[in-house]
Amino acid sequence: MSVQVVAAKMAEVELKDVPTGKDLPAESPVTPTSEGKSLARNDPHEAGSSAATSPAAEPSAKAGEGSLGLLTPNPAKMPQASAMKRSDPQQNGGEAFVNRDGTVAEAPRMKKIQFADQKQEFNKRPSKIGRRSLSRSISQSSTDSYSSAASYTDSSDDETSPRDKQQKNSKGNGDFCIKNIKQADFGRREIEIAEQEMPALMALRKRAQGEKPLAGAKVVGCTHITAQTAVLMETLSALGAQCRWAACNIYSTQNEVAAALAEGGFSVFAWKGESEDDFWWCIDRCVNVEGWQPNMILDDGGDLTHWIYKKYPNMFKKIKGIVEESVTGVHRLYQLSKAGKLCVPAMNVNDSVTKQKFDNLYCCRESILDGLKRTTDVMFGGKQVVVCGYGEVGKGCCAALKAMGSIVYVTEIDPICALQACMDGFRLVKLNEVIRQVDIVITCTGNKNVVVREYLDRMKNGCIVCNMGHSNTEIDVASLRTPELTWERVRSQVDHVIWPDGKRIVLLAEGRLLNLSCSTVPTFVLSITATTQALALIELYNAPEGRYKQDVYLLPKKMDEYVASLHLPTFDAHLTELSDEQAKYLGLNKNGPFKPNYYRY
Ligand code: NAD
Repeated sequence: MSVQVVAAKMAEVELKDVPTGKDLPAESPVTPTSEGKSLARNDPHEAGSSAATSPAAEPSAKAGEGSLGLLTPNPAKMPQASAMKRSDPQQNGGEAFVNRDGTVAEAPRMKKIQFADQKQEFNKRPSKIGRRSLSRSISQSSTDSYSSAASYTDSSDDETSPRDKQQKNSKGNGDFCIKNIKQADFGRREIEIAEQEMPALMALRKRAQGEKPLAGAKVVGCTHITAQTAVLMETLSALGAQCRWAACNIYSTQNEVAAALAEGGFSVFAWKGESEDDFWWCIDRCVNVEGWQPNMILDDGGDLTHWIYKKYPNMFKKIKGIVEESVTGVHRLYQLSKAGKLCVPAMNVNDSVTKQKFDNLYCCRESILDGLKRTTDVMFGGKQVVVCGYGEVGKGCCAALKAMGSIVYVTEIDPICALQACMDGFRLVKLNEVIRQVDIVITCTGNKNVVVREYLDRMKNGCIVCNMGHSNTEIDVASLRTPELTWERVRSQVDHVIWPDGKRIVLLAEGRLLNLSCSTVPTFVLSITATTQALALIELYNAPEGRYKQDVYLLPKKMDEYVASLHLPTFDAHLTELSDEQAKYLGLNKNGPFKPNYYRY
């Protein structure tokens, strides 16, 4: 059965709301910026982008022929992904980047990736202590701490490095390296719980029904290894892919989930608390294997991609594409593209509407409270909180805190976001106006040095300080490492920093992103991102040669709409269908896309 037939079958099941009209208009491709002129990135959701008319970097096939149709209601007419180039955020001395809304802001310089061979050979085995002492040189993304509070431990866990253990699953397969295979049953239960909240991936599995749009795909992945990732991996496998996986973060692996995956036959190389050396060793074990060569990359942070570039550049001859989820990884891809070194097509999942407008907003709206509660047991009602940055993440945090009865102040640099904050009922202030009185300070700007030592000095006793932005650059934590201040670790990820007069502040996760460090994040939101990743892999894998060039592409809006539609049944939501007359009146195709690329949602 052809993949297109399967797609049509799948579409029949549920997507009546996304009709199969034959004359979908080609979606306007998102085109590159004129480089060097400005930092304005050509965001598909931005109106009036100056470079929006550039024809460069369009896929060479005709619009409407994307193999995304494999899993969509109208296989013949799905628009293909559109190229989106943006200026290198590291240019101008690495100090500027462009916010999603097009404003130029100062950005943290991304830590340069440091490969094992620049420091120590991964196969020179360090001492046990050496392994545990984490070097500061480890890649940025891998140290953005992320841990599942639900992580399993049992008395059989020991201190032996997984690299020193011989492990086999119940079928005698030993092609994996994890903490403890005995935890597999527990991990399986976690995966089953996650499946309940990942309806679109489960629907893709069901709808594929024996059809394998990823048959022959050899996917090497480097992501957080959690129950949600396991659902994604098992979906890819159900769609025909073989997978080998490493963790993109040294803290985030759920050992029991890794065990369940290994028991299920996946080649997983990851455990919680890897050293830097382990981190690169695990990645290497995924790609450096006899008789198996990846043809697709699924990356979160860009470390895997860069490892292959560095160590095995010839592998790219067989690789059909890269799917990248994170801000950091996407920046790296654009840098490669700009330098003319990107040798395969790449999909930027980070900037998909279904990632940005859901993960950033709703994930943070739910997890900010969880992260604060688990670490501090704070009561929110009546507390004065200042939230720095009123973008998607800030909006989510403010909404949650307001609903809990907190008094919320907002700081912003952008008058538009500032006005939104005012009209949503928040007091817009400068940080120095409220810093003495607030009980909680939360940064979510993506910027650096938002909370500096001067502010930390003026905070009141007991003030809680935390960050929800990607990097640990927003709070100047280094400025607190001075002799007159005493640090007291009171809980995992919770430090009291004590001034000579006895005043103490409560610093969470050492300024790393709070929710991913100290709590879990909602599975349903990850389902939306994971579905987008799966569709991006299918599209790149099945695209005929020449459709995608060596550039960075965005999935078309139609695919975002499709991902959203797959999640609607969870809510028993009933989507209204355009009448012919209405479609004509609005100038839309009844199948979508329903909004132009510049629509902001
Ligand atoms: P955004 O660009 O929509 O919002 C950031 C806002 O901060 C902007 O409105 C900007 O004007 C404002 N800002 C910049 N510098 C400022 C300053 N010095 N003072 C006050 N405001 C300032 O971005 P976003 O989607 O809200 O993401 C923010 C950060 O959170 C990013 O680093 C992103 O990677 C990260 N993120 C975290 C999670 C999570 O789960 N914790 C999820 C998604 C994104």
